[in-house]
Amino acid sequence: MKHAKEPSKINVKGTLVEIDGDEMTRVMWKMVKEKLLLPYLEMNLEYYDLGLKHRDETDDKVTVDAANAIKKHGVGVKCATITPNKDRVKEWPSPNGTIRAALDGTVFRSPILTTNIPPAVRSWKKPIHIGRHAYGDVYKNQEIRVPGPGKGELCFRPADGSTPITLTIQDFKGPGVLQGIHNTDKSITSFAKACFTYALDQKVPLWFATKDTISKTYDARFRQIFQEEFEKNWKQKYSEAGIEYFFTLIDDAVARIMKSEGGMLWACKNYDGDVLSDMLGSAYGSLAMMTSVLVSPDGYFEYEAAHGTVQKHYYKYLKGEKTSSNPMALIFAWTGALKKRGELDHTPKVVEFAQKLEQAALDTIENGIMTGDLLRVATPNPKNKQVYTEDFIDAIAAHLIKKL
Ligand code: NAP
Ligand code: MG
Repeated sequence: MKHAKEPSKINVKGTLVEIDGDEMTRVMWKMVKEKLLLPYLEMNLEYYDLGLKHRDETDDKVTVDAANAIKKHGVGVKCATITPNKDRVKEWPSPNGTIRAALDGTVFRSPILTTNIPPAVRSWKKPIHIGRHAYGDVYKNQEIRVPGPGKGELCFRPADGSTPITLTIQDFKGPGVLQGIHNTDKSITSFAKACFTYALDQKVPLWFATKDTISKTYDARFRQIFQEEFEKNWKQKYSEAGIEYFFTLIDDAVARIMKSEGGMLWACKNYDGDVLSDMLGSAYGSLAMMTSVLVSPDGYFEYEAAHGTVQKHYYKYLKGEKTSSNPMALIFAWTGALKKRGELDHTPKVVEFAQKLEQAALDTIENGIMTGDLLRVATPNPKNKQVYTEDFIDAIAAHLIKKL
C-alpha cells in the first residue's frame, strides 16, 4: 500500500535535554510529544527519566545528571515531578530544588492569556510576570526538631580562623523547631540582574518587595543589592525606556497588585514566588495557564510547567477513567524550549514552528474547546465544550496542521 507523502520534518539542530516526570503530567507529556512534536520535528533529545521509580533506582543520581546535561547543552525541558514526602522509604530532595541549586538563577513565570478567559481580578488588564529567585532560603535549609529544653544558636565560623559570631535564636524551655537558611551576595546579585534585564527587555516596570522592616539584615541585604544594582547599571536605561523600579514591603506589594492594571515584572524572593505564582496562575484561569522558565546567570535555560503532577487526576486515570487535565503549561514548556533552541542555533524554522503550535493551542481554547479547569472560568458561550485531555490535544493538532 502506498502512503501519502509525509511532509519533511523540521530539524532542531542543537541538543535538547528532555526531563521526564511523574503521574498525570508524565501521561500528558507522552501525548504532547507523540501528537504535537514528533510528527513534525527531527529532534536530538537527551532523555533523563526523573520519574520517582528511576530516581529510586539511581539513588537520585539521575537528577544531578540532568542538571549537568542542561549545563552542557544549554536548554532543557522538564515535566513535573513528585517531591517525595516523609511517608516514603527513600526520601530524595525536591528535584526542582536540586536542579535550581545547580543552575542558580531566576524562574520567570507569565500567564498564558486568551480572549475568552478573563482574569479573576477585574482590574488586571495586562499580564503580571513573576521573577522568582530560585536559589536558597527555605529551599536549601537545615532544620532541627528540638526535642526538649536547650539553646538554639546561629553560628558563623570565618574561614580565616578569626572569632566566630554566635547568636542565640531561642532558649527552649520545651520541645519546638529550629531552622537555618542562607543566601549569597552572588546569587542575589544575579537575581537582581536577571530581573532588571527581563523587565527592560519586556519594557515593563520592575517591582520588588521584601520584609526588611522585620528582617533587618537578611531581607535588607536583598533590598540593598537591588538598589545598588539599579543605581549602578539600570537607572539611565530605565528612564530612557520610560519604566520604573519600584520597591515596597511585601504586604504592601500584595495589596497594590490586587488593585493594579497588571503589566509589571514582580521580582519575588524564593518562597514568595512559590506561593504567589500559584495565586496568579489560578487568578488568570488555571495553574496550567502559566509558563515557567529558569534562567541561569551562566546562560542556561530550563522550561517547565509551573504546576505539579496533578495527582488527583492521575488516580482517576489509574482507575481507567478519562480525565480533562490541561496540558497547556507542558505544551508551552516545549515551545519555550524550542524557541530558545532555535534562537541559539539560528534556526528560524524551529522558532516559527513553536509559535504556530502556541497559536494553535490558543485558537483551540478561543474556539471553545477546552479542559474542565478552563470551562469553569471561561466567558459563557454556547459553543464552549469540555473535552478530555487527549481530545483537546487532537483538536490542537488539527489547528496546527492547518497552520503548517
Ligand atoms: P498540582 O499537581 O499542581 O495540582 C493541584 C490541583 O490543581 C489539582 O488537583 C487540580 O485541581 C489543579 N491542577 C493543577 N494542574 C492542573 C492541570 N494541568 N490541569 C487541570 N488541573 C490542574 O499540585 P499537588 O497535587 O499539590 O502536587 C502533586 C505533586 O506534584 C506533589 O508530589 C508535588 O510535590 C509535586 N509538585 C511538583 C512540581 C514540579 O515538579 N514543578 C510543582 C508543584 C508540585 P482539581 O483537582 O480541582 O481539578
Ligand atoms: Mg508552588
